[in-house]
Amino acid sequence: MSSPPHMLVVAGSDSSGGAGIARDIATASHFGVRASLAVTAITVQTHLTVHMQQPIAASLVASQMRAAIAANPVAAIKIGMMPTAETVQTIAEVLAANPTLPAVLDPVIASSSGTRLMSDQALECLQQRHLSGCALITPNLPELAILTGQAIARTEAEIARQARILLEMGYRNVLVKGGHAAGPQSVDTVFSEGPPVHFASHRRSSSLRGTGCMLSSAIAANLALGRELAASIAAAKAFIDAAFE
Ligand code: PLP
Repeated sequence: MSSPPHMLVVAGSDSSGGAGIARDIATASHFGVRASLAVTAITVQTHLTVHMQQPIAASLVASQMRAAIAANPVAAIKIGMMPTAETVQTIAEVLAANPTLPAVLDPVIASSSGTRLMSDQALECLQQRHLSGCALITPNLPELAILTGQAIARTEAEIARQARILLEMGYRNVLVKGGHAAGPQSVDTVFSEGPPVHFASHRRSSSLRGTGCMLSSAIAANLALGRELAASIAAAKAFIDAAFE
């Protein structure tokens, strides 16, 4: 029997289990993909607040990534919480050494409760294109605004303008999550070389923590299964919609 494909999860832990690595592993399992791990931070959280966070040394993050890739048939990478500039730089180095591995970057800047999970210097590294070799970046509207240095986009035209700034920075594909916008539907839009592609879902009355983690991991899991990016995003969106049912 051949071994199932692996994805490498490069992310932070969340003691509440609501977000972070616990969500990433559960998502990988859902798609029949095995998760290898590079832990970037330990966070102490309840569902209401972040109490403490401890970055893992960048050299340890890089060593975990290299060992995971050496140990297993890693076919895609998901990148979540990156607490420091050194974390961003070291992840960029490992990605550069593995150019054929598609990486999905969830730019986790803050928790839903408002606590910053990424330093200003780490954010500057992202703005300076350190990780623009990733196959896909998945910002929500506040993250898109911060990454582009603009006010939060309120219209489709503003979203498109900000997404194009990320494309100009070198990101090949930008999935803008519309969950923070107004309206009866929540529309996610993928921007790339061609025309934008929209994915609409009913706006949910309930909230579920860790949906950003789950979406980016679901996309990476589908990439690890050998699917194209568009099909991977569609499968991941269907998975998230089902999680809310
Ligand atoms: N904690 C960790 C470790 C995360 O990786 C993330 C998001 O990716 C969060 C918290 C934020 O999740 P939430 O928006 O559900 O608070």
